[in-house]
Amino acid sequence: MEHPENNAEFEGLTVNSGVKQPEIVNPYLKRGHYRRRELTVAEMVEGIVKGDITVLSQAVTLVESVNSAHMPKAQEVINKCLPYSGNSIRIGISGVPGAGKSTSIDEFGCHVLDRTGGKLAVLAIDPSSERSKGSILGDKTRMEKLAQRKESFIRPSPSAGSLGGVARKTRETIILCEAAGFDKIFVETVGVGQSETACHSMVDFFLLIQVAGTGDELQGIKRGIMEISDGIVINKCDGDNVDRCRLAATSFRNALHFFPEPESGWIPKVLCYSGFYGTGIKEVWNMIYEYIDFVKDNGYFDYRRNEQSKYWMYESINEHLRNNFYNNTVIQKQLKTAEQAVLRGEATSFQAAGDLLELYFKHIVKETE
Ligand code: GDP
Repeated sequence: MEHPENNAEFEGLTVNSGVKQPEIVNPYLKRGHYRRRELTVAEMVEGIVKGDITVLSQAVTLVESVNSAHMPKAQEVINKCLPYSGNSIRIGISGVPGAGKSTSIDEFGCHVLDRTGGKLAVLAIDPSSERSKGSILGDKTRMEKLAQRKESFIRPSPSAGSLGGVARKTRETIILCEAAGFDKIFVETVGVGQSETACHSMVDFFLLIQVAGTGDELQGIKRGIMEISDGIVINKCDGDNVDRCRLAATSFRNALHFFPEPESGWIPKVLCYSGFYGTGIKEVWNMIYEYIDFVKDNGYFDYRRNEQSKYWMYESINEHLRNNFYNNTVIQKQLKTAEQAVLRGEATSFQAAGDLLELYFKHIVKETE
């Protein structure tokens, strides 16, 4: 091979000629792709029910897939797992970034596994997926102690997409995890946007993590999120922060008096703890178990789960209709024109929407005739 660097003008520079590569280093090696054989639905369900984590992970990946060709198989697996699901307590954990969710989940998780045995799955709803970008390592390092325990399964949020889509996938993953014998499910969510409502609609107990700050923590908190919380916990109650945390707890307790009594009949509790130093964790769990006993006794536990199933049926219909409408080629062609007409004042928003819907339904009827 010619090496221009060896020319006289590049004095002092020499390049040795390389060694010719053999055609193949190991002549016995079979060339070709080694692809793992895809499991059938029956094999997947069998593996999940046996508690095989590798199969469970594969099934979750299938459920999370954005490829619509994977959808029928995913739905079949979920349906077959459904009879084995439901036997767990599902806990939603919310808090703004930095509130200490990861630190707390690590502590809460280890505590509950030591206390009651069983298996714990940690899932997440984070439509922006900013933090982990779907990387498992990101989530595993966030919860170091828990990640090392064989009774735990930590799964990052399905990758970015619409909130409805991400939340539905998390809910379906709950079913798979329960079928695999996980009797405790944590659903973590970032306390910004609407994801708390989505999280609340799939858990039995919704825990809100707060931190004490400048004394006006109640100012920034949305009314809606306090209303859906079954328990509010003030984290970082350690060092010289203890007094501030107690003060914050008192103002939260006072504020809760102004809310109507929740449907469950349970008055939310406010507790202080430190995820970092592991203090007050037992009391948080006492509260959660007390709640579960309370709502199982008064029938609210089953009522809430039934309501959630209904909610998800309607959510699925909404999502499907919306996607179908916006993916319709006839509609896609007309959307921009309608938008312009509204902007030019030639049609009202309502009228334009009505025309588009009429066109859609006519088109759908034609297609199905
Ligand atoms: P996340 O964003 O809500 O998951 O919050 P992290 O768990 O990552 O915690 C954010 C920061 O707060 C980290 O630097 C933690 O070390 C710190 N932190 C978490 N819990 C506590 C606590 O109980 N006490 C103190 N002092 N710091 C804490």
